[in-house]
Amino acid sequence: MSRWSRPAAYVPRRRPTREVAIGDVLVGGSQPIRLQSMTTTNTLDTAATVDQARRMVEAGCEIVRITAPSLREAQNLGPIHAALRAAGIRAPLVADIHYTPNAAMIAAEHVEKIRVNPGNYADKKRFEVREYSDAQWREEVERVGERFRPLVRRCRELGRAMRIGTNHGSLADRILNRYGDTPLGMVESALEFLDVCEDEGYRDIVFSMKSSNSQVAIQAYRLLAERLEERAPGEDSYPFHLGVTEAGDGEDGRVKSAIGIGALLEDGIGDTIRVSLTEDPVREIPVAREIALLAHERWATREDLPPEPGAPYVDDRHAHRRRTTRSIARGAMAIGGANPVRVELDLGTVPVAAAESARALADALAAVPALACEGVLVDAFDPGAVDQVAGYRRALDDAGVAAPLAVRGECGFVEGCADSVSRLVVPAGSLVDPIALKGTVAGAAQKGVPIEWDLRVRVREIGAVVGLALEACAEGGLEEILFSVDATLPVHAVRVLAAELAARNAGDVPIALRHRRDPGHDDERARVRAAVALGAPLCDGLGDSVAIAGFANDPGRALDLAYRVLQGARLRTSWTEFISCPSCGRTLFDLEETTARIKARTGHLKGVKIAIMGCIVNGPGEMADADFGYVGSGVGQVNLYVGQECVERKVPAGVADERLVALIREHGAWADPD
Ligand code: SF4
Repeated sequence: MSRWSRPAAYVPRRRPTREVAIGDVLVGGSQPIRLQSMTTTNTLDTAATVDQARRMVEAGCEIVRITAPSLREAQNLGPIHAALRAAGIRAPLVADIHYTPNAAMIAAEHVEKIRVNPGNYADKKRFEVREYSDAQWREEVERVGERFRPLVRRCRELGRAMRIGTNHGSLADRILNRYGDTPLGMVESALEFLDVCEDEGYRDIVFSMKSSNSQVAIQAYRLLAERLEERAPGEDSYPFHLGVTEAGDGEDGRVKSAIGIGALLEDGIGDTIRVSLTEDPVREIPVAREIALLAHERWATREDLPPEPGAPYVDDRHAHRRRTTRSIARGAMAIGGANPVRVELDLGTVPVAAAESARALADALAAVPALACEGVLVDAFDPGAVDQVAGYRRALDDAGVAAPLAVRGECGFVEGCADSVSRLVVPAGSLVDPIALKGTVAGAAQKGVPIEWDLRVRVREIGAVVGLALEACAEGGLEEILFSVDATLPVHAVRVLAAELAARNAGDVPIALRHRRDPGHDDERARVRAAVALGAPLCDGLGDSVAIAGFANDPGRALDLAYRVLQGARLRTSWTEFISCPSCGRTLFDLEETTARIKARTGHLKGVKIAIMGCIVNGPGEMADADFGYVGSGVGQVNLYVGQECVERKVPAGVADERLVALIREHGAWADPD
């Protein structure tokens, strides 16, 4: 880890980057996170593109990207640029280039920035397997470099910026051969292009490492950040453009984007962001704004760096590995070990009207039958509330809610209801009394009930309280324990907790992830904050259960959001996963409508990944690990894929949905909807 990434793992610290000017907009350094998006119109349709760009800018988009698939579109960027400037719109334009170096050279004359994809700038994707000798490899790198060099020179002459944008799904065959479809391959691919730029003395560069898999994107960006720092130790590095590609639409697309982008921003990585939704690009901006706002809040938080824990929080930050933990079980409740990440409801104070409340909960759960409520947590912070816990348990049983009940209360109080609950959740602050801790442990050990220590301390105090709690448990012979943290910096606090546990030979103690919705937050903000607070640790491999508080009146919504975060982090699948591109000027059908239609037919296929991509130029590569693909191949025509293999070509759009369903059946992945 580097001078910046080591502290940034435990407290928010922005990665030091240089400022890159994209027209009038500066990206990187101490500049705010810039919001950007991409038009979905045909680039040859000047009026439509200008109109859409105008709407995007009015919504808050600061940088507008436009596809330039061929020379004609690249040429038309000139009139588009002129029309926008005539309308007083100063937002810089970015030409999106794949496969067409000649289009890039033309586009550089008209727009402020060029995006190139190292995977396809000078390589055709042939899905070939071929072994390269070192000599062949060098020759190929040189060939690609010479193809790229004229663009670098022209951008330097014209003062244009460039994004070297690697995508997980579109790595060149050569890179795939040597590195596989990996974050390392993505990084190496980008660095080859950087070599050419630096050789030409050109540094107006922004990088991206996108993937539709949040975990892969996070690992690739982290790796690139570290590799760049190794190349130029102590220097401000190149800014990063963050995004999760083909995130889809609706709730899932937003959650997945918030996890991938938000987790990196928690690391201090990221200078400009694009949320890719299969929706009108205008609707991407409020999501991006919320993600950026959260990051700025984090970076403005001044918490002291905690003492260096004696162990890392994960073994490898560049690979996802779920932390190995012991299973904590009482009755039907088992958390940790090989159990899936559990989903609990955190309902607040134990209800006074127990029967009525339990029936309401049963009704709410019945409305989301596919989403299992695997635990219910209530607070009992005074003796009266403690007395109600047993009654609430009976009421839950009467209402048919079998989920185990956990209770949160002060040391000592909770013993009064230990017989009715699966777990005691005991807040532990910085002034925690070691005697009270020991008393609570003795009571829990006697009743055979596990304790979750709910740390309510600043990041730098976590180690001390973890030490006290572990000591009390060791003395009292209580091994059935978990930890959680209730902190203003949830992602960093969970990392410090994991590291402190590992340093004390308690690295196998499960961690419960908790997030509390602020009642003042609207849906967009609440969703983004829950996705980042829970999703970022999950992508690090941390967390054995999740719970979102603050939805006591809408428990179905809390469950839905928690399961979507688990799916977005690829930890637990509850629905079909849709990988759909945001569409652009290459798109050959109405992507939003088509996605909605296919979702309606196939949205119940738990665990199946279906890609819906707008064009065959980038679609097949970008859909990466989808099980089935629906890709526009011509006007009114679709190619269908099983994995990476195209199995039906030029299927008329009118029958393509049926053929897709038939393919899913033929491959044994179909199930009739309930
Ligand atoms: S896959 Fe979609 S977003 Fe990507 S180039 Fe094709 S149409 Fe555009």
